[in-house]
Amino acid sequence: MQRNVEIICTACNKETFLRREPVYEGLKKVGEKLFCVSCGSPFNDESEVSFKKKAASSVFSEADKPKQIKVFSSDEANVRNCRRCMHYVVNPFAQKCGLTGRDVLATDQCWSFEVKPVQEKADGEKAESPQ
Ligand SMILES: [Zn+2]
Repeated sequence: MQRNVEIICTACNKETFLRREPVYEGLKKVGEKLFCVSCGSPFNDESEVSFKKKAASSVFSEADKPKQIKVFSSDEANVRNCRRCMHYVVNPFAQKCGLTGRDVLATDQCWSFEVKPVQEKADGEKAESPQ
């Protein structure tokens, strides 16, 4: 268990860190000396130290979070891309959505998506194949 070392020093009022120095008697560790990293003020024990309160979530690092990023590239048939939509209008100057009149990109996704009827395959434009 990692110990809290973030403190607000009661002597210098800085948000700083606690330095712990082990105290040995011979080879035996008998205690710790506590200091403020910023000003070097000693503390007799932890009850004198004003620790910063940590958010509970900071106990875990980003690496501990489960990775659940899914990419749907393998399932192109279900992608609501503008280029597959019946409202998608392409001309030499712009790609637009015929529904909203806004500029779009072929790869945009849209919740007004309606699949382009199969018989309307644009001339000269190859039907896209997933592979
Ligand atoms: Zn200090």
